[in-house]
Amino acid sequence: MENKCIENLVITARFFRPLITEHRSLERSETMIIVMKAGASEGQLEEVVSRIEELGYTPHIIHGETRNVIGAIGDERGKARLQYLESLPGVERVVPILRPYKLASIEVKDQKVGERTSFEVADGVVVGGPKITVIAGPCSVESKDSLVDIALQVKKAGASILRGGAFKPRTSPYAFQGLEEEGLRFLKEASEAADIPTVTEVVNPGDVDLVAGYVDILQVGARNVQNFALLKRLGDVDNPILLKRGMMTTIDEFLMSAEYILSAGNTRVILCERGIRTFETATRNTLDISAVPVLRERTHLPVIVDPSHASGHWQYVHSLSLASIAAGADGIMVEVHPEPEIALCDGPQSLKPKKFEALMAALEKIAEAVGRTV
Ligand code: PEP
Ligand code: MN
Repeated sequence: MENKCIENLVITARFFRPLITEHRSLERSETMIIVMKAGASEGQLEEVVSRIEELGYTPHIIHGETRNVIGAIGDERGKARLQYLESLPGVERVVPILRPYKLASIEVKDQKVGERTSFEVADGVVVGGPKITVIAGPCSVESKDSLVDIALQVKKAGASILRGGAFKPRTSPYAFQGLEEEGLRFLKEASEAADIPTVTEVVNPGDVDLVAGYVDILQVGARNVQNFALLKRLGDVDNPILLKRGMMTTIDEFLMSAEYILSAGNTRVILCERGIRTFETATRNTLDISAVPVLRERTHLPVIVDPSHASGHWQYVHSLSLASIAAGADGIMVEVHPEPEIALCDGPQSLKPKKFEALMAALEKIAEAVGRTV
């Protein structure tokens, strides 16, 4: 009996050893960050960047409100030489980042002043600032007229970005797959008619340029959060990226996915918690509200919540939206449809425009309570 127990332990240890080793080696791989002084000049920044390159590292500049930092990514063996950059004018300190994700880590920001990242996603629309971002629209683009109509209504109610899928990743190959390029054209027309920027999902790396030509923000859906070819490709576009958490990705895996986009050169990444799979069946997924404060502790990137896909029922969207903002989210993304009963996709979780208006009014009070605006 005792022997059996020991045998089991040995088998268990053998199984876990590679996982533990992999985890440790990830944690040990240090990226150095060079923190510039608050008043450092552009010339001093450029000098540091060229020294980093001379040492065979790739510099990534992260612009902050008070100071800039440069991530130096490359072979771990030369990192001692990077330490000498501390003596250059304009450099405050050189520090290692221990977390497996580097550029996404909160460690690249000045944590003493609670510095976070905010950026413009379209003219005058900032994500991650004091004003919370509300993204609203149908699950999928259905027709030009219906989209223009929804765009006007959500804009009037106070939404700052219009959503709508043109390429729909559906569980069933027989379900509506989206209007594709025609849907992208309708998004552009609705954006112009209602003067509101847009976000839509891109599923295929080969479609990135096409989609980027029509919309402001590119969305990576939950099912593609670890499609590394897509993530790398998105590092190379000028559009900001809305990255959804997968239904089975841990928070650290989610941040590693963000790291793919950041390390490929795109610094504007918005994270979106959209519910994870649990044993619970009363809702479509389980909204992991804890992810909001955990992400805010681990990353400087803006975090929004999608309560529509998290719950699957419009009845829960109102309270989950309020909870998300109360927990510290920078915004929400909700599905809105004037006739959910005939929507081509996700009708049961879509709010009617009147309910969306009521949500906006309620959000104002919660935002105020946590020191933000709508
Ligand atoms: C969507 O937002 O259109 C969508 C498909 O959501 P998710 O990827 O979170 O399932
Ligand atoms: Mn949907």
